[in-house]
Amino acid sequence: MTYLHETLERLKKSSPAQAEFYQAAEELLESVEPLLEAEPRYLEHGIIERLVEPERQILFRVTWTDDEGRIRVNKGYRVQFNSALGPYKGGLRFHPSVNAGIIKFLGFEQIFKNALTGLSLGAGKGGSDFNPRGRSAGEVMRFCQSFMTELARHIGPRIDVPAGDIGVGGRELGWMFGQYRRLTRRFEGALTGKGMEWGGSFCRTQATGYGAVYFAETMLRSRGESLKGCRCLVSGAGNVAIHAIEKLIQVGARPVSCSDSTGALYHADGIDLTTLRRIKLEERGSLKGYLEEHTDAEFTPVDDYPAEGHAVWRYPADAAFPCATQNELCDADAKALLDSGISCVAEGANMPSTAEAVDRFVRSGIAFGPAKAANAGGVATSQLEMQQNATLQQWTTTKVDRRLQQIMIQIHKRASDAASEFGQPGNLVLGANIAAFRRVADAMIDQGAI
Ligand code: NDP
Repeated sequence: MTYLHETLERLKKSSPAQAEFYQAAEELLESVEPLLEAEPRYLEHGIIERLVEPERQILFRVTWTDDEGRIRVNKGYRVQFNSALGPYKGGLRFHPSVNAGIIKFLGFEQIFKNALTGLSLGAGKGGSDFNPRGRSAGEVMRFCQSFMTELARHIGPRIDVPAGDIGVGGRELGWMFGQYRRLTRRFEGALTGKGMEWGGSFCRTQATGYGAVYFAETMLRSRGESLKGCRCLVSGAGNVAIHAIEKLIQVGARPVSCSDSTGALYHADGIDLTTLRRIKLEERGSLKGYLEEHTDAEFTPVDDYPAEGHAVWRYPADAAFPCATQNELCDADAKALLDSGISCVAEGANMPSTAEAVDRFVRSGIAFGPAKAANAGGVATSQLEMQQNATLQQWTTTKVDRRLQQIMIQIHKRASDAASEFGQPGNLVLGANIAAFRRVADAMIDQGAI
């Protein structure tokens, strides 16, 4: 449809050099083409033009002082993309690769992910090009406080509720919440992923990784299969990867890999979670250290990766869980995974597979869970944290975990039903995009031309 291509061309002119954002927009626009043909009202109401333009983009300076007393400056971002379904909601990423295009792609994906949960959630995303690697705790704290000094005026429990993402875990959220409270004099749920003693929800930290595994199980169950006994490749070694590995072990699967920015680790007997946690969460070191305790494991440094692709996807396996970062699984990796007989991929990270890799997975007919469906457990549990904060309650782990499982099953049903309705049963990329788009678009139409 020329209309969609015109929209993409317009986007490239108005928002130059934002490759990841065009990638996310192109996938969505292609998926919803049959819906737009069936229901022209979405075009008549200018939904596409409005959806690709954030409601508000905030760019600010973050000034902080390093341990030598030198003044440092980073860029801070918050994109408030769409609030048709609820307060803006989405994480904060601290990583040197962060720029306006990365935050925009993440915010755009967040619109549809949040819509798929069926909960009252708008979409936003933020972060900074600050690199926490090698920085002392004092430096990271001063950075977080300075970042929040500006951000605080733009957020609030009914306005915009940020959470964590790459480089932002419980420690950073604590420092940002402390500064928010100091500035506003309000103890309220303006952030999620908080500590258990100060407004956090049980299971929020685990929710994205657990949710990706629940989603994979749901996809497989609908095909009469299960994860039990499956060898699983996981990438990443942060919050999402560690909790995906933990849940995989609990459901009787065998996670055999993980990765970080220094390389890929393979342990055929199964990843030892205690060692992994110590290295990544306590020591904040490289995965290479795992070999000191497990000499039968293999570590491939980034310099030795294949010319095209990522070493972590080149091991024999039955299922794959990309849980590190965007575009970490390319077409050559997808081909290698399918050649080795993989039957399930659930994306824990945001847009971890390139467009070509996604096409290959979908064409192959394996169980493929796209990020906006498979990793929505984190934001869904954030919404449960918001519900608990609003009523000054704290639910039990069992209650939150049960809700998370139900939500993942419902997300799968929404995506799966829409895929069948549009003649492509099992194509959850198409189904997730259509089901999510329809929910947001209908709300936008109801609320008028704003
Ligand atoms: P963490 O910072 O906890 O972990 C990220 C992991 O990925 C680390 O092991 C890091 O390596 C590795 N990594 C990050 N960037 C790169 C890179 N450019 N190259 C190689 N390795 C990299 O982040 P999360 O686990 O929270 O997030 C992982 C993914 O999941 C992201 O795509 C995020 O957007 C997505 N996500 C997260 C949610 C959450 O609740 N946290 C919710 C939904 C999606 P190293 O340890 O060396 O830094």
